[in-house]
Amino acid sequence: MPHLRIAVVADIHANLTAFEAVEASWGVVDEVWCLGDVVGYGPEPNECVERLREMTQVCVPGNHDLAALGRIDLDDFNPSAKAAAEWTARELTHETRMWLEGLDQRIRRDPFTIVHGSPRQPIWEYVLDTASAAENFRDFDTPYCLIGHSHVPLMFAVGADGRVAGQPLEPEGPFPLRGARRILNPGSVGQPRDGDPRASFGIVEIGSDGQASFELRRVAYDVGAVQTRMRVKGLPEPLAIRLAYGR
Ligand code: ZN
Repeated sequence: MPHLRIAVVADIHANLTAFEAVEASWGVVDEVWCLGDVVGYGPEPNECVERLREMTQVCVPGNHDLAALGRIDLDDFNPSAKAAAEWTARELTHETRMWLEGLDQRIRRDPFTIVHGSPRQPIWEYVLDTASAAENFRDFDTPYCLIGHSHVPLMFAVGADGRVAGQPLEPEGPFPLRGARRILNPGSVGQPRDGDPRASFGIVEIGSDGQASFELRRVAYDVGAVQTRMRVKGLPEPLAIRLAYGR
């Protein structure tokens, strides 16, 4: 088994500037895995999908991708998210639409399962506490699961006693995953919500012995330029403002 280095991106949310910044920072990778919500909120949905298509086919859809395709009810969205989803739906090209339509909601790339929300509810569930994490460990059979959706970099692990513990992920370098089953969220490329406005993503390495490591990365990008384009395109102001705060 060859050594593999994989960039893991989630919740790009049509923020091409943030996506380009993380791509420029990750160096040489063998694969890119995407955990969904490529579009929605941001000003460049087609450009983000085009860029991603050139990199990978390993991508699951998120709730905002399905909303832009008209496949889920927008009444579950808050007013800003709904307005952005309607704008995105009008913007999508035929090519973007076809690519998003073809995505599977769950992908297995050993030793990882890949979903957007959670393994038991790939589109909608947020895994933000140990109770929901504990229930979700039953819904995948690989050692590790990669999730997005909450835009918060987090890890849950099952201890030797069977108890589930959670912790925020910080950009502190790579660490080995062996020794526990884990659910990992690399945070959001295009709309972080943990109070740090820098784009967030992960690097997974799988060694020739099959052992995996994970590293959280943060990258600053030109938030002001994205805010300007959101205003020019008429996207809701609260969505532009929050990018500066990472909330
Ligand atoms: Zn999202």
